[in-house]
Amino acid sequence: MATLIDGKAFAASLRERIAGETAGFTAKTGRKPGLAVVLVGEDAASQVYVRSKHKACIAAGMESFEHRLPADTAEADLLSLVAQLNGDARVDGILVQLPLPEGMDENAVIQAIDPDKDVDGFTTASAGRLLTGLPGFVACTPLGCLMLLKDALGDLSGKSAVVIGRSNIVGKPMAQLLLRESCTVTIAHSRTRDLPETVRGADIVVAAVGRPEMVKGDWLKPGATVIDVGINRVPGEEEGKTRLVGDVDFASAKDVAGAITPVPGGVGPMTIACLLHNTLDAACRREGVDRTAL
Ligand code: NAD
Repeated sequence: MATLIDGKAFAASLRERIAGETAGFTAKTGRKPGLAVVLVGEDAASQVYVRSKHKACIAAGMESFEHRLPADTAEADLLSLVAQLNGDARVDGILVQLPLPEGMDENAVIQAIDPDKDVDGFTTASAGRLLTGLPGFVACTPLGCLMLLKDALGDLSGKSAVVIGRSNIVGKPMAQLLLRESCTVTIAHSRTRDLPETVRGADIVVAAVGRPEMVKGDWLKPGATVIDVGINRVPGEEEGKTRLVGDVDFASAKDVAGAITPVPGGVGPMTIACLLHNTLDAACRREGVDRTAL
């Protein structure tokens, strides 16, 4: 039976550590790190995310600036809000909650964010910095996955890793992070020919597909470390109820893997903790504060 990688506990301790560092930052600079979150429209899931981000900021001792705009906001008005936040000295990080209402050019809005405040790591500047090894912000979900992997395995150097999924927000940055740790990285995707065979060679498997329980236990190399990013809602046992499952078939994978993240309680809680981590980093860089000394 695989060791359970407890993302919930790891995220809680990370948030506690960040709260301590934040107090140090505030004592040193006389101001709190600030995160601005922009929500356009009424998307129910986005409202929940924005509320949790706000609560997490406050709990960590950070300033949270919420901007809620109606769904029919003109793109030009959203862009001018982003420009205003770029210039606001109290704001260290800017997050525009996706998806934006239909008709808005998400890419144009994201690219308008100052890369030095891009705590979501979604701008092309951030992607380019990650690719070329320059300091910058890394998307929160893959960053959280990497933290869990390093905590579970220590040095990742020389390990073979398969990332299933090639999205800009999870798969591609995840692969870059693993490459930065000197793993031998394969990116698998919807056109990969023999996915089970590809996965079987890996010491590390990161599944970010969005297909419930796709990765089976007999695809895995015995002892592999499995990070399940997927969040899929499927019908539950009771009529009318649903339950969350990952992209990995936990029931069969746990008997083969060496360590595995559960869903829920694995990668999910790491995302907001990493947002706080990035926001504090942004604040430290802007103020010239050495975070390691906090
Ligand atoms: P996406 O839809 O943008 O990308 C999915 C990727 O999976 C694509 O690159 C595609 O090539 C690949 N794919 C699709 N079918 C495949 C198949 N049959 N075999 C191999 N590869 C296949 O999704 P995303 O935004 O990267 O998210 C992936 C999953 O992670 C989703 O379940 C999402 O809900 C979840 N997610 C979780 C968090 C978190 O905080 N835990 C954050 C972001 C996304």
